[in-house]
Amino acid sequence: MIQTASMVLRSGTKLLTAAIGDSAARDARILMAHTLGVPTDRLTVELSRMLTPQQVAQFEHTIHRRAAHTPISHITGKRAFWKHEFRVTPDVLDPRPETETLVELALQGPKLNTVLDLGTGSGCILLSLLADLPEVRGTGTDISEAALKIAAQNADSIGVADRATLQISNWFSALSGQFDLIVSNPPYITEAEMTALAPDVRDHEPHLALTPGGDGLSAYRTIARDLAKFLAPQGRAFFEIGKDQGPEVQEIFAATGIGPVTVHADLGGHARIVAVNA
Ligand code: GLN
Repeated sequence: MIQTASMVLRSGTKLLTAAIGDSAARDARILMAHTLGVPTDRLTVELSRMLTPQQVAQFEHTIHRRAAHTPISHITGKRAFWKHEFRVTPDVLDPRPETETLVELALQGPKLNTVLDLGTGSGCILLSLLADLPEVRGTGTDISEAALKIAAQNADSIGVADRATLQISNWFSALSGQFDLIVSNPPYITEAEMTALAPDVRDHEPHLALTPGGDGLSAYRTIARDLAKFLAPQGRAFFEIGKDQGPEVQEIFAATGIGPVTVHADLGGHARIVAVNA
C-alpha cells in the first residue's frame, strides 16, 4: 500500500501518545522530518509526499525507539541550541533551553579576549559564545575524552575550531593562566533527585554530566576554591544551577570574597544562573 507522510505520521503519533503522552505530537513531527530529511519547520508542506516502504520502516523504527524513552536527540543525532545545531550522542549532556540563558547573560558586558568553559560536554556553551564573539579565543575542558571528541566535531561544523582549545581536565586541574570569562553548567542534580528523574534523562544521558552525587553542590565547591586564581581582574563568571540552589550556590561563591555574586532567572522564571564579578 502506498502511504502519504501525513497518514504515516498520524499512526506514529497515536502509537507514541500511548507510550510517552504530552510531547508525542511534536516528537513524531521531528522524527518524520528526520525521515524525510527536511527541517521540522518545513514538514507541513511535505506531508502530501508518498513514502517509500524503506521510509515507512525507518520512521516506525524511530517511533519505537522514542516510545522506549530514547531521547529525540539520540535518535536524530542533533539538538538545536542558541543559533546552531549541535551533534549529540549518549556521551554528552543533551543541550537544554535553560542553558541558553547562560549564553545570553555571558554575551552581555564589556569586551573580552578569553573564555573558559568547565565541563564543556557537547561544547554548546563555549562554541555558541565563540561564534557570537569572533575576536575571542576559548578553552573547553571535560573529564570525558568521549565528550571532547563530540565537542571537537561541533567546533568544526560551527566553524570556530581555530579559536577553540579542547582539553581533558578535572575542572581547573590541567589549566594555567587567567580568563576574562569563565562559564560552566556543572552536574548539579542531587543523589535523591536522580531516582525521580524521567527515564529519558536518567537512563540515557551520562550520569557524570547529571550529578556529582550527595547534595549536588560539590562541583560548585571545587570550582569556587580555584576561581580567584583563574579569573582575570574585572573578569566575570556564570554558573548554571538547579532552580532551588540559588541561596546555597550564592553563598559558596560569596565566601570566596572575589566580588559581588548575583542570581538570575531563566525564561521560565526559575533561578538558573549565578554570576560572579571580579
Ligand atoms: N556544557 C554542557 C552543557 O551545558 C555540558 C554540561 C554537563 O555535562 N553538565 O550542555
